[in-house]
Amino acid sequence: MKQVTVLHGLFIEEYQCKRPVMNQSINISESVKEFIIRSKGQFIDGEWVKCLNGFELPIIEPSSGINIGKLSEADIESVNKAVESSVQAFNPDSEWSNLGPSKRERLLNALATAIEENADQFAELITLELGAPLSATKHFEVNKAVETLRYYAGFPSKIHGDVIDINQDMGDQHFFGYTCKEPVGVVAAIVPWNAPLMIAVWKLAPAIAVGCTVVMKPSEEASLAILRLAELAHEIGFPPGVFNVIVGRGETVGNSLVSHPGINKITFTGSMKIGKEIHKKASDKLIRLSLELGGKSPVIVMPDADLEEAVPGVAMGAFANSGQVCVAGSRVFVHKKIADEFIERIKEFSLGLTVGSGLDEETQIGPVISKKQQQKIESYIDDAWKSGAKLHQKNLSKSNGFFVPPTVITNLPRDSKLLNEEIFGPVMTIEVFEDENDIILQTNSSSHGLAAMVWSESHRNIQILAKKLRVGTVFVNTPAFPPPSIPTGGFRESGIGRDLGASGLEGFLETKSVISKIS
Ligand code: NAD
Repeated sequence: MKQVTVLHGLFIEEYQCKRPVMNQSINISESVKEFIIRSKGQFIDGEWVKCLNGFELPIIEPSSGINIGKLSEADIESVNKAVESSVQAFNPDSEWSNLGPSKRERLLNALATAIEENADQFAELITLELGAPLSATKHFEVNKAVETLRYYAGFPSKIHGDVIDINQDMGDQHFFGYTCKEPVGVVAAIVPWNAPLMIAVWKLAPAIAVGCTVVMKPSEEASLAILRLAELAHEIGFPPGVFNVIVGRGETVGNSLVSHPGINKITFTGSMKIGKEIHKKASDKLIRLSLELGGKSPVIVMPDADLEEAVPGVAMGAFANSGQVCVAGSRVFVHKKIADEFIERIKEFSLGLTVGSGLDEETQIGPVISKKQQQKIESYIDDAWKSGAKLHQKNLSKSNGFFVPPTVITNLPRDSKLLNEEIFGPVMTIEVFEDENDIILQTNSSSHGLAAMVWSESHRNIQILAKKLRVGTVFVNTPAFPPPSIPTGGFRESGIGRDLGASGLEGFLETKSVISKIS
């Protein structure tokens, strides 16, 4: 049922929610309950480590706001223990360093199989912390983690250097020269909360494929699935110390980890602000670093776009995972010729989405992860209405959960901060354009450079836009969805280096040259 009301002096089209979103109790499976109790601590050197003097991190289920458990934060001794264990595991005489590539391939495949066998448990663990619908966590995040492990399992035996003819450079003497690709060493992997398992595996799989050891710090808001991953890795035969996990806040545990002298490489995914802080620390010691940071991805809907595909594609490109996606297409530009029809259709599609608990199988859009995130997103929406924009959003029933309805915003002033800042919530702005060159200019002069989406049926338009847009990934006629074989990363302040694809291995490798005299 559609209603039109005025709220805060703001024009809003409201659609009554099909079902109430209030969720008073949560059904948690026995195996997950048991894991939450078991996983109180860090997973270091193949065993659980409890930190009794540490800070306690509550586990809050986002659709109800209910506290379902707690984790103890790593103390400084645990951070040191985790790094030292990974340093030992990387030692040239260690079991791990002498395992050989085919065994690393088998371990990566075995971990993929173990995740598949525990897919329901992983999906539930992620949904309980993140709030995303179970169907999405299972079919998207868990499956992507499995695919990524299998993809990198194909690499270990194919990583090699070159033999180089150097005789001609050395006069009459005979020499033999070659290069080796060697693992960079102990990796500190810092992971955000918005796709915890998948992004953890984006880092773990290539690091393991080349023979590094890893100390991972998940987000304090989404640690459970990664702790389970470490436990499973140990069970299927990862030697102790090869994959350690420590949990805790960024300013404490994350900071101690990136500052630890035993670390050889930092791989970080998260916000630009923290990425830049880590960049400064790493550059002091010339620590190898890769950064996957935030985005503000433009979506260009050309006049020849197929709206049957573009409408749901653009909507889900902005609202999937409640908009908490680095490559979310949150800033939509639609050509003047089709703007009226497109805006009507996208409003109807978006306002018809089913919002509810991630544990409910009918849910298409879950809550956002936390009260803090909900308030941050609502403050952007408030700014929009204060500036006189039009908001179109579904009216939700009252709930203790952290719900923000999918929100479509039109008529925003050009200087609105919503157009340039990453909102990281289910909020889409729509602007009308006549000349795509204006959008190319705006995109290429933005500090963000992670991704862009193009919707068009014209091969020529697609090729021109894909070439001219200076961003890490251009998605054409599809919402953002990086498969494991395609490198992902950002231009400009959206990052340094690439995750995924064959390029995803490069940041975990050093090249060693050997020059040997024969006669
Ligand atoms: P965040 O930067 O707040 O935190 C990311 C991680 O860094 C967390 O584990 C956090 O605990 C840790 N951290 C925070 N302060 C730290 C410090 N001083 N030292 C060391 N570690 C610290 O980001 P978030 O809110 O968890 O994630 C959302 C952000 O991640 C968004 O900006 C999103 O665009 C970005 N992201 C980027 C990609 C990509 O591939 N480019 C993918 C997913 C998310």
